[in-house]
Amino acid sequence: MREFACKSLGNDCTWKHIARTEELLADVVAVHLRDVHGVQEMKPDLIGKIKNLFSNPSPTEAETAEGLVLKEYNCDLSPGCAWRYIAQTEELIADGVAVHARQEHDVKEFTREMMTRVKNAAHEWKGMES
Ligand SMILES: [Zn+2]
Ligand SMILES: [Zn+2]
Repeated sequence: MREFACKSLGNDCTWKHIARTEELLADVVAVHLRDVHGVQEMKPDLIGKIKNLFSNPSPTEAETAEGLVLKEYNCDLSPGCAWRYIAQTEELIADGVAVHARQEHDVKEFTREMMTRVKNAAHEWKGMES
């Protein structure tokens, strides 16, 4: 199992992901970087840099990640926003949405109600093609 934390790239981001292989991890990292950080193209040097930042998760985290299904949240804070967030837990999604809501929708305070709504709206991610 390999782990990647987005903040290790210098991003102000709580997102992290654990996957069985480096290839699977790199795929999901690419989706995250595109959706959230606007990285349209994964250049070989960027992929190399990211793979260097992969680490081994703790045994407990690896075991937990084994049973997790990736969840997806499509922003519904304002009509027309195409932003989405894919993460391993609803907590990570809520964190990411809070940052997005502040930056893009001028939401000063991400309330408990909003967090619950986001968690309820999160659904299973269908995979790379969607
Ligand atoms: Zn990130
Ligand atoms: Zn949005």
